[in-house]
Amino acid sequence: MGVQESYPIDVAAIREDFPILDRKVGGDFTVPGEGENDDLPLVYLDNAATSQTPRQVVDAIVDYYYGYNSNVHRGIHHLSQEASVAYENAHDRVAEFVNADGREEIVFTKNTTEAINLVAYAWGLEELGPGDTVVLTEMEHHASLVTWQQIAKKTGASVEYIRVDDEGRLDMEHAKELIDDSVKMVSVVHVSNTLGTINPVAELADMAHEVGAYIFVDGAQSVPTRPVDVKDIDADFFAFSGHKMLGPTGIGVLYGKEEILEDTSPYLYGGEMIRRVTYEESTWEDLPWKFEAGTPVIEQGIALHAAIDYLDDIGMENVQKHEELLAEYAYDRLDEFDDIEIYGPPGDDRGGLVAFNLDGVHAHDLSSILNDHAVAVRAGDHCTQPLHDKLGAAASTRASFYIYNTYEEIDKLVDAVDDARQLFA
Ligand code: PLP
Repeated sequence: MGVQESYPIDVAAIREDFPILDRKVGGDFTVPGEGENDDLPLVYLDNAATSQTPRQVVDAIVDYYYGYNSNVHRGIHHLSQEASVAYENAHDRVAEFVNADGREEIVFTKNTTEAINLVAYAWGLEELGPGDTVVLTEMEHHASLVTWQQIAKKTGASVEYIRVDDEGRLDMEHAKELIDDSVKMVSVVHVSNTLGTINPVAELADMAHEVGAYIFVDGAQSVPTRPVDVKDIDADFFAFSGHKMLGPTGIGVLYGKEEILEDTSPYLYGGEMIRRVTYEESTWEDLPWKFEAGTPVIEQGIALHAAIDYLDDIGMENVQKHEELLAEYAYDRLDEFDDIEIYGPPGDDRGGLVAFNLDGVHAHDLSSILNDHAVAVRAGDHCTQPLHDKLGAAASTRASFYIYNTYEEIDKLVDAVDDARQLFA
């Protein structure tokens, strides 16, 4: 039986800020606005894919569009100045949140995927060549795995993967063997979106730096769920997405050490990143604008600022504790069934998600039954196909938790899984 320790945060008060959590779903699907699904209260356990958005973040977007919607850095008129200041402040706020040195180190992108691509194209295409190695892990998200694979193909570099052991942890002895003088980049996921493993990224950063390589940390699942300090990790690059941390879609963050970003050529050209252009030559704006071509993600940046304020009010230590309690509870409850296989490390040592399979039942069938119970989870390979191949599973069902989730919702998940077991028995 799972143990229900008291919550470190006021979940009831938090839920009040998320109107979507009052929705009823289930029964037949209807196109939004074209009918009502008034069946069952929504149990939203798909947070590792995208989190929900509190009123405060939506208000920041509305305030922007109703109050000071304008392009940034292009006008001296009042609205443009207000938008520019708010947009710049958003960079400062993100820098403070992850303990970067300042806005110069914070580039806004569309998402984590674009942040990885930015570095792979801007840095990788220039710096990698035959004889060089990029070290990844077997648990990388496709956003990193495929991107580096493609850049390696274009440059003649090779890719090596740090093994994942039977418990779903990185084999650090293997990491030591792989990270040698040929390595120019180590790119690792901080918290696995499939296994829930929390990787020793600071240790890997030391190993990379010892051989003169850079480390890129994919923080898509870590920044939303725990305090992150890029300096403690000593990451050279670090990326995450706004939509997994209460913010809107369409914004991601690339952190890069200032001196490395200074030395790196732009990835996209035009608009915002330009300083001076002649028919012969062009020069670039200062950091971070050098990497933000065209009209940037103004609304999204301002909304991300509001999302960070919301999370900071709760306190990231508390967010982490809440995640850990729910993950352990879900793990223990699902572990009660002999015919359920859970992937990744034990319940008391993982991020806030649990991916599993029920014997003989495809993850899509299971999640469809969960949907009949109004329980929203993710079924599929979670963009980790090679890892699923290694696990011997075509797909898995993943429940992932956030600040507004409760033990009762996990009980509903487990009851729904139990129903599916009986249906398919
Ligand atoms: N990396 C990890 C670990 C993820 O979980 C995700 C999203 O699922 C990504 C990268 C890609 O994030 P995005 O789709 O926001 O680019």
